[in-house]
Amino acid sequence: MASRELKLKIELVPAPLWYSSIYNIYRKAGMLDEWRRIKDELFRREGKKCWICGREGERLEAHEFWEYDDERHVQRLVAIHHICDLCHKVKHIGFWCYTKDGKEKLAKRGLREEQLIDHFCRVNGCSREDFKRHIEESFRVWIERSRHRWTQDLGEYDPNKKRKSEESKGREAV
Ligand SMILES: [Zn+2]
Ligand SMILES: [Zn+2]
Repeated sequence: MASRELKLKIELVPAPLWYSSIYNIYRKAGMLDEWRRIKDELFRREGKKCWICGREGERLEAHEFWEYDDERHVQRLVAIHHICDLCHKVKHIGFWCYTKDGKEKLAKRGLREEQLIDHFCRVNGCSREDFKRHIEESFRVWIERSRHRWTQDLGEYDPNKKRKSEESKGREAV
């Protein structure tokens, strides 16, 4: 099964970009109000279910969907959606199952790698062989991408653009 047919894909963020999430960027810029607005908007638009697997009644986490330009080495933020805990852990399986810190945290939450793999196979309707191929491919891409320096394109979520649009809204109100 080709990766593009999978509903739930692993997305390993290249090492040089770790911690440079929009959440962290807003937090550092003192813009957590904006982050809360994004979350509220997601609840309004997508309801209280996982955007990927559709599970309801789960705690939802905002996941940032990035695209990678492997020639210019630009990481571009294309969307943010609410997804469930299990889908989110599959997305960041590199952290949860392949780092010391992640493994400890996963165990503390009473979860095992097996459960993440099961969830992946259930959501995608695929076999464990498919999972194995997909994770190997994801790590291959991750190793290649981690060798480069990247710039980020935050698109409509860019803090400077956000501020400008807030200012112009303010002016309209006057
Ligand atoms: Zn889900
Ligand atoms: Zn995420």
